[in-house]
Amino acid sequence: MENSGKKFDVIVIGAGIMGSATAYQIARRGHKIILLEQFDFLHHRGSSHGESRTIRATYPESYYAKMVIESCKLWEEAESEIGYQVLYKAHQFDMGPADDKSLQAVIANCRSQLIPHQVLNRHQVSEKFSGQFELPENWIGLWSELGGVIKPTKAVSMFQTLAIQRGAVLKDNSEVCEIRRDDVSGEILVGTANGNRFLGKKCVVTVGAWMKKLVKLVTGLVLPIQPIETTVCYWKVKEGYEAHFTISNGFPTFASYSQPYVYGTPSLEYPGLVKIAVHGGYPCDPDKRMWGPGISLHALRKWVEERFAGRVDPNGPVAKQSCMYSLTPDEDFVIDYLGDEFGKDVVLAGGFSGHGFKMGPLVGKILADLALDGEAHGVEMGYFRMRRFEGNPKGNVKEFADQVTFATDCD
Ligand SMILES: Cc1cc2nc3c(=O)[nH]c(=O)nc-3n(C[C@H](O)[C@H](O)[C@H](O)COP(=O)(O)OP(=O)(O)OC[C@H]3O[C@@H](n4cnc5c(N)ncnc54)[C@H](O)[C@@H]3O)c2cc1C
Repeated sequence: MENSGKKFDVIVIGAGIMGSATAYQIARRGHKIILLEQFDFLHHRGSSHGESRTIRATYPESYYAKMVIESCKLWEEAESEIGYQVLYKAHQFDMGPADDKSLQAVIANCRSQLIPHQVLNRHQVSEKFSGQFELPENWIGLWSELGGVIKPTKAVSMFQTLAIQRGAVLKDNSEVCEIRRDDVSGEILVGTANGNRFLGKKCVVTVGAWMKKLVKLVTGLVLPIQPIETTVCYWKVKEGYEAHFTISNGFPTFASYSQPYVYGTPSLEYPGLVKIAVHGGYPCDPDKRMWGPGISLHALRKWVEERFAGRVDPNGPVAKQSCMYSLTPDEDFVIDYLGDEFGKDVVLAGGFSGHGFKMGPLVGKILADLALDGEAHGVEMGYFRMRRFEGNPKGNVKEFADQVTFATDCD
């Protein structure tokens, strides 16, 4: 390719949180990088848009707890570089049946990772949160210090701005439809549907819910990464109680370890409303979205009615927003080299399974390490290998899609 304006050290495909954070990491290390996005920047058709994502260190898996602590430092570093806030710190409150194995594993991790926390019985919960949460007889609560709300669209915009400030080239409305090794240079050739071609020594693919489609198109390989359409719900706090649900009054980000798995954030983006949603949804084709009908809300209504002591209107959400998860069978991420003819020159990151946003800055750093240094530093990558599903019946894409429909039907 003769046009040197189209030659880069690294080409990053997909400008959600993962691609934007990667572009920033690569640009700040002084490399020539281009970030390509199929739609307009900051669009609402992927996974990284909207007003709130939870950050919490309370994971049943110890490797994620460690990663969140690391990612937190990187969020703060980026905020201080840009000069504005994207992460609003709160505390995290997890609740569930006392014998729930996942909740017990979370508590054990808090202890081993030295995350400041308190395990509370239902009376202590009521006291700590001035009656905001009501737990059933056999439930416990876990208060932990590290929680908060990240503003997703603002955060993606922050990393794109920081990347541009460090010299990155950003191009939207550029759908990548070709990734191959260039016959002449041996580098990675990336072609777009509008006829542009770029050459990169390395390429990073962070295309969210389109990962299965794009990888199949360029290699024939079918990854068990299932796009899921999910719905965020906002519920109205009853008159007189609005202030009780704000971060400044100690209301936490929260998660409930029972059926359905419920998560939520304090009243922040829309005064008087709290986000309360179910972790689940329906398999979808990211290019033929249904934009609804969303999961049945029967169980969630009941949960809202019972857990919030009558202070939140349980009749139904007053606002909804559609979004996509990229689910893997074990809900662990996929972060790996594409391999085969691409060797270590193409890196993939996807399958964030509805819990990746908080890790965005760390994933950006890992991807920059993998692309530029040939290895990730300080993170156990074994859990994220692309080929871990090979020979594993759970890796069968068709069966997996069927299971997902079943597993997320919460009524
Ligand atoms: C409702 C909801 C709630 C969530 N809550 C939380 C939470 O509380 N905490 C948390 O940590 N995480 C949460 N998540 C998960 C988190 O938002 C995602 O893990 C994260 O946003 C994934 O980012 P991504 O960059 O991988 O994907 P995306 O944001 O989808 O970015 C991929 C980009 O690639 C582009 N693209 C695709 N194909 C091509 C192509 N061929 N050429 C060029 N560009 C392409 C897409 O247009 C898109 O912009 C939630 C997700 C949802 C949907």
